[in-house]
Amino acid sequence: EVAAEPPLLQNLNPEQRAAVTLPNEHALILAGAGSGKTRVLTTRIAWLLQNGQVSPGGVMAVTFTNKAAKEMMTRLTAMLPVNVRGMWIGTFHGLCNRFLRAHYKLANLPQSFQILDTQDQLSAIKRLMKQFNVDDERFPAKQTQWFIAGCKEDGLRPNMVEARDEETRKKIEIYQLYEEQCQREGVVDFGELMLRSFELLRDNDPIREHYQRRFRHILIDEFQDTNKLQYAWIKQLAGPGSSVLAVGDDDQSIYAFRGARVGNMADFVREFNVQHQIKLEQNYRSYSNILDSANELISHNSKRLGKNLRTDQGPGEPVRVYEATSDFAEAQWMVDEMRQLVRDHGTEPGFARKEIAVLYRSNAQSRVIETALFNAGVPYRVYGGLRFFERAEIKHALAYLRLLENPRDDTSFLRVVNFPPRGIGARSIEQLQDAARAMGASLHDAVSTMSGKAGANLGAFVAKIDVLREQTQGQTLREIIELVLDHSGLIEHYKADREGADRIENLEELVNAAESFVTQEGFGRDAVALPVDELGRPLTQSPASQGLDPNLPPAGEPLAPDADTGETLSPLAAFLTHAALESGDNQAQAGQDAVQLMTVHSAKGLEFDCVFITGMEEGLFPHENSMSDYEGLEEERRLMYVAITRARKRLYLSHSQTRLLHGQTRYNLKSRFFEELPEAALKWITPKHQGFGSGFGFAPNSVAKNDRYTRTSGGFNQDLTRFASPPVPAQKTAPAHGLRSGMQVFHNKFGEGTVLTLEGSGDDARAQINFPRHGVKWLALSVAKLTPV
Ligand code: ATP
Ligand code: MG
Repeated sequence: EVAAEPPLLQNLNPEQRAAVTLPNEHALILAGAGSGKTRVLTTRIAWLLQNGQVSPGGVMAVTFTNKAAKEMMTRLTAMLPVNVRGMWIGTFHGLCNRFLRAHYKLANLPQSFQILDTQDQLSAIKRLMKQFNVDDERFPAKQTQWFIAGCKEDGLRPNMVEARDEETRKKIEIYQLYEEQCQREGVVDFGELMLRSFELLRDNDPIREHYQRRFRHILIDEFQDTNKLQYAWIKQLAGPGSSVLAVGDDDQSIYAFRGARVGNMADFVREFNVQHQIKLEQNYRSYSNILDSANELISHNSKRLGKNLRTDQGPGEPVRVYEATSDFAEAQWMVDEMRQLVRDHGTEPGFARKEIAVLYRSNAQSRVIETALFNAGVPYRVYGGLRFFERAEIKHALAYLRLLENPRDDTSFLRVVNFPPRGIGARSIEQLQDAARAMGASLHDAVSTMSGKAGANLGAFVAKIDVLREQTQGQTLREIIELVLDHSGLIEHYKADREGADRIENLEELVNAAESFVTQEGFGRDAVALPVDELGRPLTQSPASQGLDPNLPPAGEPLAPDADTGETLSPLAAFLTHAALESGDNQAQAGQDAVQLMTVHSAKGLEFDCVFITGMEEGLFPHENSMSDYEGLEEERRLMYVAITRARKRLYLSHSQTRLLHGQTRYNLKSRFFEELPEAALKWITPKHQGFGSGFGFAPNSVAKNDRYTRTSGGFNQDLTRFASPPVPAQKTAPAHGLRSGMQVFHNKFGEGTVLTLEGSGDDARAQINFPRHGVKWLALSVAKLTPV
């Protein structure tokens, strides 16, 4: 008699099933894109829990983004009723933060230590270099920042770095000073989160042994992009009784430039004596035209571990290739195509907006696309770029909030001591900094020594912060933020600012972000709250609630004298942590059916029905910084492999003859990657009446459906573009729109505004306009109705 297959294992192929039900030993899954690696990892957690092999507290899973972590928790709770609270699922940084919060004393940190993002870190370094008169021409702050981050990634403290030459000696000195400054202020940067957790585990036997006993199963997704320190951290956590499951794809390693080591895979196999290496070769994501393109492209790389990938899904549609005359025309075409696809949603081929993704190599490309989408009224959502929490006005508000939590945070102090302006000049601030240094105190504490008008102004600022702190005691997070926005003078300041409307909107969004943080996330710890017993086990009668490992310490048990699992962290401190660690992408438009815009890097692990890869040009993709050396080019190719394999059903590749980037018009050749794709899988499309160099007139809405494209055999202009000299830009005639910068114009929706910038010509012409009530917008002049006033 054959036992019925457990439901969890249904819908898995034999190799996947083998991976999910592996014995408790270390294992590596090495497999190509879309082969179900992440699905296997998630299902394995569920399977282990269901079979009572581990309790939620014994699981640690590392994902690449917070979004992926949330997704994993949602999937898990859909598979079985489990309390995800006890599980450690998150990014490396998120998990290290959680660990350090629980052991802040042992880690020599204040309980509510704050996290410096890359921007804060840079300004902290700049400040320090100025203070110690370090020549910033010889030692650019950015370079020093990379140096420090690099040292930390290699696990090196200043006294451990070898001073090979004078220059390195100086950098080590700055690193040392920077460390002291951070310690004094009670702040940590991203690298420090990792390094300090690692050191605590390494140096504290009871702590290490506790966690080694606790985490029976450690699972890591996207293992190919781990760096040296992350790998060392995992080695500390894995004890004699733990099993590590590493999952990855060497062809998708795209963070070498930030210290990721594909070599960690081979090291893992050797050092953990891995007996189980599993390959998954069936791709479930894409049709074969898409998959063949990816396979053929990546076959041009020489450094590969070697894997196969096939699909049963049939060829599907060809990969469509489009050549545009300008970046603007490229965006117009794309938006048109998208609108058609969205209109056909529900029929074949049609897609929901959120199933359409636009990928680009660098963030600077997004603006022209955003403009086109905005003008067409297509809802969209941009991932990455300037993160919500990195916007200047948000950082100002957060600085006030951070000072409430920690008055010693000098970075925040300096950010807002004179913002909004309150008559505190650079001179006074320098004096204050000198005084603080002499006293070995924080800026906040040194204010009392200042006299005169400067002293009075500074005193008033400090008093304002101290009063706010008093006033907000016991208030809800929402109330605190509203009070701070109001009393700091930020709102008032932006109200008076000509371009302040957007900023005020963002500040209001901050209140919403806090609100949803509290209600949905329960301070970011509980994605899904289920009834649990006192040990944090689910109360439902699932197999997971029986047969739990009796040797396992309960999830919430105190570990060390100062251990506290973060429960006592104030909502404000928890929110500030969240702001530093989360991208904040999911504010505002979360849940809306919107087209997704992102860089290829941030698309890793995701999938969409329909994908547009734009800007397929030499210098852009492959990127000019990586084209010159072999290693760089191979990484670009892996990046392209990642991009292609995001698509399930439909894939578009586009390039443009000209592109405005960083204020310059560039004439790019089309990407060499086109020549590395299988011709049989491609279909070259191009607007009917538009040939190479035939002018820039592609009117978006004037051409009927199905009549838009002609098919040319072979590659459209393939050789021509490669060898032709740059096309002559459109002749300089008086612009037809008749606008000049500085002119006042009227727009039906936005009202009156001032023209700031004009770019492009003919149908490509666009204007940047400041509308006092709606902020600065880019508008396409062929679409937008503007009348001079
Ligand atoms: P990437 O390398 O891009 O991260 P991956 O290997 O992690 O990809 P998944 O995202 O886990 O792949 O899976 C790709 C898609 O295939 C998902 O939609 C997943 O649900 C689906 N899938 C995986 N395995 C199966 C299966 N056995 N049957 C049907 N669908 C599957
Ligand atoms: Mg995956």
